[in-house]
Formats: sequence, C-alpha cells, structure tokens
Amino acid sequence: DKGLEKTKTSFFDQLSKAVVGKSTVDEAVLDDLETMLVHADVGIDTTVKVIDRIEKRVARDKYVSTSELDRILREEITELLQRPDSGSTAVLERPDRGASGQPFVIMVVGVNGVGKTTTIGKLAHRFHSAGKKVVLGAADTFRAAAVDQLIIWGQRVGVPVISHGMNTDPASVAYDAVQKGVDMQADVVIIDTAGRLHNKVNLMNELSKIKRVMQKVIPDAPHEVLLVLDGSTGQNAFLQAKEFTKATEVSALAITKLDGTAKGGVVIGISDQLNVPVRYIGVGEKMTDLQLFDRRTFVDSLFS
Ligand code: GDP
Repeated sequence: DKGLEKTKTSFFDQLSKAVVGKSTVDEAVLDDLETMLVHADVGIDTTVKVIDRIEKRVARDKYVSTSELDRILREEITELLQRPDSGSTAVLERPDRGASGQPFVIMVVGVNGVGKTTTIGKLAHRFHSAGKKVVLGAADTFRAAAVDQLIIWGQRVGVPVISHGMNTDPASVAYDAVQKGVDMQADVVIIDTAGRLHNKVNLMNELSKIKRVMQKVIPDAPHEVLLVLDGSTGQNAFLQAKEFTKATEVSALAITKLDGTAKGGVVIGISDQLNVPVRYIGVGEKMTDLQLFDRRTFVDSLFS
C-alpha cells in the first residue's frame, strides 16, 4: 500500500518512541500513547476512549509488556472502526448487482476542494471497469468548474454525464440523471452536489430538495449519501463531518488525500464519533487511486 506509507511510518515510529527502554505499560507509556494519538489526529474523545480501554486491560492483566502494546492498540482501533452498515454501496461491490432493475443511487456531499469531483470520477471508473453501467449527475451547479470537471471525468471514464450547465436547478439535474439511469437500466447513478457549508439552512434545503425530487423516480433513493472528507485537514475534516451530518443523513464516508499525510488517525476518530462507516479512501490523484476501505488492512498499514 504505497499510498499510506507516510501514515504508516509516523504511527509506527511514534509508538516505538513511546515504549523505548520500557518493558511494561505504565502511566508514562499511556501518556505518550495519548499524545501520539492526539498528534495523529484521532481526536480527543476517541483518544480518551482508546486510552481508557487500554488502561482497563492493564489493570485487569496487572502486567502488560510494551511488546504487546502494538497488538492491543491494533485490536482496540480495529474494533472502533467496526460500524453498522446502513446504506450500502457495499452491494455495488458484488458482481451480481444490477439484476434487480432499479439503479443504486449515490448522492455525494462535501465541501469544495476536498476531492469530491475526483472521488466521483474514481468511483465511476471503479464501477465501470467492474462492468457496471454508470450515470453521473452534475448537480453541483454552483461552480462552473465542478460541472466542467465532472464532464471531463465522464469522458475519461466513458460514462454519460447529465448536466444542465451552471446555475441551473440542482434538483432538476438530479431528477434527469436518475431518470436517465432508469431509462438505460444503469446499475448506479452518482449525483454530485454543491458543498456550500457557510449557509447551513440553504445546504439542508438544497439537499432535501434533491432527495425529494429524485424520489419521484425511485422512491427509496438515495440509497447512499456519501460524505467526502479531506483526510489531510485533520480536525477540520472532523468539524465538516459534524456539520454535514446535521444537514443530512450521511450513510458512508470517503476520506481523500490519505497519501502523503501523517494524519490518517482522523479516519479512526471520525468514524467513531459519527458512527458512520468509512467506505472508500483516496490515496492519490489518479483514476485508480481509490481503495475500498478495509479496517484490518487500514490498521495494519498504520502499524507494520
Ligand atoms: P472538489 O472541489 O471537492 O470537487 O475537489 P476536486 O475533486 O477538484 O479535488 C481537489 C484537488 O484534490 C485536485 O487537485 C485533486 O486532484 C486532488 N485530490 C483529490 N483526491 C485526492 C487524493 O486522494 N489524493 C491526492 N493527493 N489528491 C487528491
């Protein structure tokens, strides 16, 4: 996993430093561990939770050697990353999806600049190369660049993009994209939306209008509301995630830019605090730099 190398080195290095010259896990080691988790952007609440759990294990087992700390920490973090699966892009990862008729609709939300358009392009590529029929909807009509970029991604991947241009009604774009998906018996429709977080009421209204309108075509759409967050922004990603979960029901997360960052810990905190599963991680700018999130692989990459 070349993409996560930097995250990996950092976690591993810091843990080794925390236990150097010590044979057992004591107060001082736990203090260092706490500092390490906070620096890795796990977030204070989740850090406290992890430390509490390790403290309990230490208290119970009396003696915990520092050589075991690595394994214990991995176990605790892996457990924290276990989230109930609500929406389910997961079904799209199964090769048999599509036989049932209705397209699976993903509404993608997130603040500008986090890598939303790129993630949609990567998803389109992922599903398209798995032999699925994909339609994109350019409902981030607030920015000309967003519409243009999505069209470019559509051409690059080879999938249709429904667009009415800039400043058009996003709900109408979403409606047409979902309708197009039904008409061409697509497996998946991915709708881009505007991420103007500075106006919460507008954002909420716009997202619910998009939902309402697409439900005229497919009553249970969207099947997934995927929030895209920039993992390199650490605690800022955290705050954005909180705002978005207030504005709409987020069912899964895509965390981008985890290549070249030592802030991979943010994934742990966000997933824990929001109780939302991480579905994808972005590890580069290329079409293929998107990975299906697997908590064990991820935790391993942090440590080994
Ligand atoms: P949007 O405004 O949220 O739609 O963001 P874009 O999709 O335009 O992406 C913003 C910038 O982030 C672009 O330069 C992308 O190439 C870059 N980007 C997106 N995802 C990743 C990623 O996983 N890793 C890296 N290194 N860059 C990314």
